Amino acid sequence: MKEQTKILHSIPVDELTGAISTPIYQTSTFVQEAPGVHRGYDYSRTNNPTRAALEKLIATLEGGSNGFAFASGLAAIDAVVKLLNAGDEILAVDDIYGGAFRLFTHIYQKFGIRVNYTDTTDTEQVAKAITPKTKLIWIETPTNPTLKISDIPAIATLAAARNILLCVDNTFASPAAQKPLELGADIVVHSATKYLAGHSDVIAGLVVTKTAELGHQVKFIQNASGAILGPFDSWLTIRGIETLSLRIIQHSKSAQAVAEFLKTQELVRNVYYPGLTTHHNYTVAKRQQKYFGGIVSFDLQVDEQEPATQLTKATQYFQLAESLGGVKSLICLPSEMTHKSIPAGIRRQAGVTDSLIRLSVGLEDPEDLIQDLKRALRIAAGKLVTRTW
Ligand SMILES: *Cc1c(COP(=O)(O)O)cnc(C)c1O
Repeated sequence: MKEQTKILHSIPVDELTGAISTPIYQTSTFVQEAPGVHRGYDYSRTNNPTRAALEKLIATLEGGSNGFAFASGLAAIDAVVKLLNAGDEILAVDDIYGGAFRLFTHIYQKFGIRVNYTDTTDTEQVAKAITPKTKLIWIETPTNPTLKISDIPAIATLAAARNILLCVDNTFASPAAQKPLELGADIVVHSATKYLAGHSDVIAGLVVTKTAELGHQVKFIQNASGAILGPFDSWLTIRGIETLSLRIIQHSKSAQAVAEFLKTQELVRNVYYPGLTTHHNYTVAKRQQKYFGGIVSFDLQVDEQEPATQLTKATQYFQLAESLGGVKSLICLPSEMTHKSIPAGIRRQAGVTDSLIRLSVGLEDPEDLIQDLKRALRIAAGKLVTRTW
């Protein structure tokens, strides 16, 4: 069975009614025949049939043993960190999602979990940064917003040899483009808010474990801490996943066209997209990803916020908003929006310059999207007529 067939047919037909769309079991509790005698469901924090359908679906899609659905991507990340004990260390990608950085630093540090950051695009740096206390390696690939790529199989080999868990935040690629568990990772997390749900209408998070033993531990944490996804949001996420692979194919095609267009523009300095042969880790991306995804970032020759701000305000189809991965295109200025809380020095060092613009290329006709950017670039250039670069 091919992947898309498998996805659609791993969503069970409702046993009770034959409903082809998973019913939304909007209930907190389930009536029992006798104390402790029930049909597999007793209380919806512990287990809910709609959520269970989503959890089975994401486990199938990522090729893992168990899936778990949480109230947000951050709640999913939080559940994975709870696998650790005080005194343990996390080794994380230096270009990490800001919310994960905040969680690790401002919540878990005070409970005695230390986090070290390193450039995980360089596997040798990862090997050097491991300490005897490292229990979890945390990577994102591609990263946000500069699309850095880390070599999952190489890092997985390092981790396995030292009995360290490898967790990959697979939000940017999605399982339609990249399957970290098949590449050797132990755990995958998702902000399902982005490509999996795919329509900018839900906040959700997912965890998938490679082994049933890890799955057992995450199940315990999910029930004990309680940050579960509700039935309706589970249903929306299932509905999104049904078209994931089709969407990722088109997002990637359009993003490639947009990236190649931006490369030809005089006003543009750097274009970040893993599908460009000029990307610093193109060969690794090509090896581990089936598609290169829908996110493209670029900065301007004049590295100031003003012309970049004008550009983000001038686009019509790329709407100015945080988040990504939906059917409608979005544009954002990370230095003023998603990455504003990171000190300017550190931010610039990570490549998030003042003029860096991130695009989430949606499902509009790519020709319209390119025309939109062309017009906005002209407007931004107009602000620069007296300048030379
Ligand atoms: C958005 C995002 C998150 C956080 O997910 P929420 O659903 O917003 O809580 C985590 N990792 C990455 C890479 C993200 O883009």
